[in-house]
Amino acid sequence: MIDVEHLTKSFGPLRVLDGVTFRVPRGEFVAVLGPSGAGKSTLLRCLNGLVAPSGGSIAVDGIVLDRRRLAAVRKRIGFIFQGVNVHGNLSVLRNVLVGRLAGKAPWDVVFSGEDRRVARAAIERVGLGAKVQARVSTLSGGQRQRVGIARALAHDPAVLLADEPISSLDPVTGREVLDLLREINRDRGVTVVCNLHDVRLATRVTDRVIGLRDGAIAFDGPADRLTPGDLARIYGDRLHERD
Ligand code: ATP
Ligand code: MG
Repeated sequence: MIDVEHLTKSFGPLRVLDGVTFRVPRGEFVAVLGPSGAGKSTLLRCLNGLVAPSGGSIAVDGIVLDRRRLAAVRKRIGFIFQGVNVHGNLSVLRNVLVGRLAGKAPWDVVFSGEDRRVARAAIERVGLGAKVQARVSTLSGGQRQRVGIARALAHDPAVLLADEPISSLDPVTGREVLDLLREINRDRGVTVVCNLHDVRLATRVTDRVIGLRDGAIAFDGPADRLTPGDLARIYGDRLHERD
């Protein structure tokens, strides 16, 4: 479970998160929606300890996230960035093995048989079994995004955080990647919190939507109950049409 209470984050005079409170029960799939600059990435980075909050608290499975317990919390979390943090010059397998070893350079580390077994299973899981030895620079955008997901899975996380995992993909591939996250969520009971810009997909694929606007929660409820009025509260005048 993720428990966020009165979370605030300021960068200098700019208040980016302004008292955000929510709980995510184990196994839920949550989409975070909101206009550009609303604070979605900052929120996920706070959850992963990449950004230190200015105030409030975050707990993952009852462990309060602070500097002393950062490693314990990170062990439970897989983080999927937007396609950029895979190493193009390394093979798919090497990239995924990185998920087994937080913070060590991938070229001077010895992996155990167990590491390799888990990494290969994760690669199979995302449908890249035929590409285990391929260099990532030879893969398509959707395949690279799957490598990022496999790496997060190799970490055996209880929680997956994904920051716009499909924004660089065509609609069909994006849907496939989101469906894959959904399957992982269902099969393994992994809790997923996913920043998305695609409202329609969010309402179709996820359980719950948290709408952020100007660093505060403008909507929090079941994804299938999101109304045009709710969307207007989240996106304001920037939203012209829904479908
Ligand atoms: P997008 O949909 O465009 O990705 P977002 O909702 O993810 O937007 P954030 O990246 O969280 O938005 O940024 C929220 C605000 O915080 C923005 O105004 C941004 O400029 C600011 N911000 C984020 N990180 C920093 C930083 N390290 N230093 C200063 N300002 C920052
Ligand atoms: Mg962002």
